[in-house]
Amino acid sequence: MTDLFTVETRIEDHLGRTGTLRTPHGDIETPAFIAVGTKATVKAVLPESMKELGAQAVLANAYHLYLQPGSDIVDEAGGLGKFMNWDGPTFTDSGGFQVMSLGVGFKKVISMDATRVESDDVIAEGKERLAHVDDDGVTFKSHLDGSRHRFTPEVSMQIQHQLGADIMFAFDELTTLMNTRAYQEQSLDRTQAWAVRCIAEHERLTAERVGKPYQALFGVVQGAQYEDLRRKAAHDLETIVGETGRGFDGYGIGGALEKQNLGTIVRWVNEELPEHKPRHMLGISEPDDFFVAIENGADTFDCVNPSRVARNAAIYTPDGRFNINTARFRRDFTPIDEECDCYTCAHYTRAYMHHLFKAKEMLASTLATIHNERFTVKLVDDIRASIRAGRFQEFKKETLARFYS
Ligand SMILES: [Zn+2]
Repeated sequence: MTDLFTVETRIEDHLGRTGTLRTPHGDIETPAFIAVGTKATVKAVLPESMKELGAQAVLANAYHLYLQPGSDIVDEAGGLGKFMNWDGPTFTDSGGFQVMSLGVGFKKVISMDATRVESDDVIAEGKERLAHVDDDGVTFKSHLDGSRHRFTPEVSMQIQHQLGADIMFAFDELTTLMNTRAYQEQSLDRTQAWAVRCIAEHERLTAERVGKPYQALFGVVQGAQYEDLRRKAAHDLETIVGETGRGFDGYGIGGALEKQNLGTIVRWVNEELPEHKPRHMLGISEPDDFFVAIENGADTFDCVNPSRVARNAAIYTPDGRFNINTARFRRDFTPIDEECDCYTCAHYTRAYMHHLFKAKEMLASTLATIHNERFTVKLVDDIRASIRAGRFQEFKKETLARFYS
């Protein structure tokens, strides 16, 4: 088997690098932004349009596809890519984030462990706890119909093997910054124990499902804002090798972190992780976050944000984000971004986009999503090009000065 990942150009005096991530459905040049297609579709956009705007890969959510249509149906269809008519690389998350965030009241923070009674057990007023964590797994109620389900590391692996994505993630516990230090330690032990079980089940399924392309498994590094916990988590995951000796193929950097600590936390983790394995950063898409995470050694990213905000008329441009809904665009017959090479900017005006949103036309979401996804994909592509050209720091300074001015 050829190496999954090759490091190419490095950022001087930093952990950041460019590379190539190889999958059975094609290579991903890194750093790369991975578009999110939660339910096996990037909302409102055809896969052909995603390809055309430069998306290299798509990430779908195990939780959503397990509930609807069912991971067995995706399996029968020939896997996620075949099912959704996307012939490029695919990722799935473990379902852990969605399942466990059901237990968290909006903006109020709790641990998901029902036995805790202190600050770890606070839940927002009027919210029902929908998820309960124990050492073996998580029991939760479906957000669709309230039916009860249980995810364990083994179940998550079985679902993700059925979904058949090229890159999958281990089932981990989600904590928040408000959890106590004691809880974070306990949670990390649990995530480590689950990682061992994920590798074992992954190896069993890989051997059992003969003839399927190899699905790479990434471990997820938790540890919140604590340096010792983050370093320990990264180190401990790398010691898990399973029966085959292969271990994790790459790593995800997950969980609670504050924006101002992003670079520091990514650096702690990547100083511990082996150089030759790819590192995925879960859930970021703001320009400053990309630069900081890439500088500190993150290779791939996913986030629902570019498409989610697009459906609310928020448009990204090199000069910052604006809302196309505002009245000043009623008679503005220029493209939403003069410099953008996307389909939307090539063919439509701000006045038309404004009209579509005001009239609540479905095409508004499609055109705005195409633009925001293109903006995000291209930003990361341009960062990659700047590293190759040895001008990452200059490009960072120029881009951020302009975007946040
Ligand atoms: Zn555009």
